[in-house]
Amino acid sequence: MPTTHPFDDDKLREECGVFGIWGAESASAIVALGLHALQHRGQEAAGITSWDGRLFHSHRAMGHVAGNFDKDDIIRRLAGDASIGHVRYSTTGETALRNVQPLFAELASGGFAVAHNGNISNAMRLRGELNRRGSIFQSTSDTEVIIHLVATSTYRTLLDRFIDALKQVEGAYSLVCLTSEGMIACRDPLGIRPLVMGRLGDSYIFASETVALDVVGATYIRSVEPGELIIVSAKGLRSHRPFAPRRPRPCIFEHVYFSRPDSIVDGSSVYSVRKRIGAELARENPVEADFVVPVPDSGVPAAIGYAQESGIPFELGIIRSHYVGRTFIQPGDAVRHLGVKLKHNANSALIAGKKLVLIDDSIVRGTTSLKIVQMLRDAGAREVHMRIASPPTRHSCFYRVDTPERAKLLAAQMNVAEMNDYIKADSLAFVSIDGLYRAMGQGRRDPVGPQFCDACFTGDYPIPLVDADDGKVSVQLSLLAETA
Ligand code: SF4
Repeated sequence: MPTTHPFDDDKLREECGVFGIWGAESASAIVALGLHALQHRGQEAAGITSWDGRLFHSHRAMGHVAGNFDKDDIIRRLAGDASIGHVRYSTTGETALRNVQPLFAELASGGFAVAHNGNISNAMRLRGELNRRGSIFQSTSDTEVIIHLVATSTYRTLLDRFIDALKQVEGAYSLVCLTSEGMIACRDPLGIRPLVMGRLGDSYIFASETVALDVVGATYIRSVEPGELIIVSAKGLRSHRPFAPRRPRPCIFEHVYFSRPDSIVDGSSVYSVRKRIGAELARENPVEADFVVPVPDSGVPAAIGYAQESGIPFELGIIRSHYVGRTFIQPGDAVRHLGVKLKHNANSALIAGKKLVLIDDSIVRGTTSLKIVQMLRDAGAREVHMRIASPPTRHSCFYRVDTPERAKLLAAQMNVAEMNDYIKADSLAFVSIDGLYRAMGQGRRDPVGPQFCDACFTGDYPIPLVDADDGKVSVQLSLLAETA
């Protein structure tokens, strides 16, 4: 099985990125560029669906955006001035072409395409009910539940049927949908997954991150607000708020790791937040050292913040190869063990004989941290003190993030001292949950009504885990997977 992150299985992975544009010439070419900027959010598959005023066109494929959407004939076939796209890792449902989004269905009202970032946490229960009422599912994706709920709703207008569907689902969703009547963008009432709105000339764009607006030369307008539903059509733009207001709880891990540092998430610069987390880490967990060294690339902004706060020089003690990754075939165990050196190599001329503060964004399984500490010691480092720019990751995410099962999370099994013994560092410390909230511009975490979803650190899940509580987490259809 080709993989895109042969040595990154020690990170939480964001599952999806969405992008849509209404009212632009060459809309699908712009979507392809936008998806390219969101590639870090999902690397297993990509898809685009367009509307040319008469017909819908769709192309979905396994693999990266480049390689699938860099061919003129494919973009030409995706005709029209309205288009949506999606990049994904597999989560709910097996990795198969039929699960690649945008999903599309012919409803009584016409075509309906949906691109979804998030996870419907009661999808299995709803799917069972829909199955009993006669719905026939084509994929194992939780997103298909939304299509069937829209299709079977008894409300008259498409908008009302869509709202009726969303009121039945629990979970995290940022959606961009394409219909013959217009493009619909919406965010769940807690705003767990991000979604932003931008403008390119007279066209409106919706995207998971602002970096996708930057890449296509669009202007950032604002975030789609939690619980907001926006329709763009020939009549212009209309905003609806169909849900009872609730205190938003956007995913705090977007700021720790998922989003690109050059993005603005819910009004905050991701780069600035990561630097402030590093500064909090330095204040909470000081250590004497010669250099602050990031695990590249994800640890770099926090390491800059740690260095600036502590006065210890920032140095690139680890150099990352940017040529490891795409469709790299996983080698066997013996060779795989060398993988960390293929991706990261110690800058031995710099670090030999030195005391290092090593900064990374998180520890998930701990296997990479163990190898990197050993690599630095082998290169002659005298001491390696590891500092982590997030609290210990003790719980799984059920809101469309690929988390190893809880038993494989190092922090779910060990306390910090035991984790330090496991990774064989001289010391190990994490930023506190309140330190993380301070870096987000909050005084502290409000224990009664937390300002963010932080469930992977605290276990405080803001949305009921209906399927997980029912013991149902995925389905398997009987047709063997299509692949491409
Ligand atoms: S559980 Fe963690 S990764 Fe998942 S949405 Fe909440 S904060 Fe984000």
